[in-house]
Amino acid sequence: MNDSEEKTTGASFAEVGEVIANHQSFVIMSHVRPDGDAIGSQIALGFSLMALGKTVFLVNEDGVPESLEFFKGSGKVTTPPSAPLDVEVAIALDTATKPRLGEGALHAASKAKVWVNIDHHVSNPAYGDLNVIDATSPATGQIIYGLIKALDFPMPDETRDAIYVAVSTDTGSFQYGSTTAKTYEMAADLICCGLDVGKINADTYDNNPFRKLELMRALLNTLEISDDGKLAHWELREATRIELDLQPDDSEGLIDLIRGVKGVLVAAFFEELEGGKIRVSMRSKDKGVNVCDVASRFGGGGHTLAAGIRMVGPLEDARAKVLAALAEALNTEK
Ligand code: 5GP
Ligand code: MN
Repeated sequence: MNDSEEKTTGASFAEVGEVIANHQSFVIMSHVRPDGDAIGSQIALGFSLMALGKTVFLVNEDGVPESLEFFKGSGKVTTPPSAPLDVEVAIALDTATKPRLGEGALHAASKAKVWVNIDHHVSNPAYGDLNVIDATSPATGQIIYGLIKALDFPMPDETRDAIYVAVSTDTGSFQYGSTTAKTYEMAADLICCGLDVGKINADTYDNNPFRKLELMRALLNTLEISDDGKLAHWELREATRIELDLQPDDSEGLIDLIRGVKGVLVAAFFEELEGGKIRVSMRSKDKGVNVCDVASRFGGGGHTLAAGIRMVGPLEDARAKVLAALAEALNTEK
């Protein structure tokens, strides 16, 4: 299945609205190593529910990365408390599989009676009691916008700004093919509601720590490209991470540099994680080369054109296996 095919699983916004109306306490979570769509969706829905008078906990296994601390309301997002929270409802946002919420977050949410799963990953197996899976949406933030509008929920400034950043970061600044007329209409509406476009884009994109450029330099030194020029990849070793004192989100978005090379159809990034696991990040420029399918073969997932894997190392082995699978996918390009 590719991103253009409709795959909305399960619940309507009205059903989610009923669950919200019938309960008072909520924990809202998103995936480990959160990106702008993950944290943005949590803040967006969380502040809207708080404005309705609900008790809301915003929990992320890894907390808010430095690059997303500029979000209004980011201080409300915490790492998981050690004891389970007294909440009735758990809401998972932008999280393709339940374990990707992280063990601590799952423990924190373990007293919840009802699970709501809102996501745009085509590979999401619908693990909630209520599932709103819209793989046609470019970002979970856009689904949250639709939910808030459909249910006539409040749109405080934190929610307005968080939706914009969530969608901007997941669409490569409103550039990817997944961006629809609805996306632009939504952005226009948020601007009409008072969003400061210049400031929010500067906060999002012109605020990189210098070490991110040092990382870019280190990655470029490992860059390799296949003989046919279609598959480019680079890698990050633990030694470099330690030497440059890198944060997990420093590599966010850098893969777009190799994806952007003329002739390249697939870009891959291999990263040694603490503890020996390997993180693989993949991007495709061609819907005929489905990197989500490749990721699924190794226990990962994501979208047709952007997917990821956590797999056992060492890096050499993981890289050889994934590059072989990508070469095969490129050779059988539909
Ligand atoms: P990124 O390369 O930016 O980390 O992730 C690209 C996409 O793949 C995101 O939508 C992300 O949620 C998904 N993804 C990344 N890593 C994994 C993984 O280990 N498992 C699954 N199921 N999805 C992943
Ligand atoms: Mn997303």
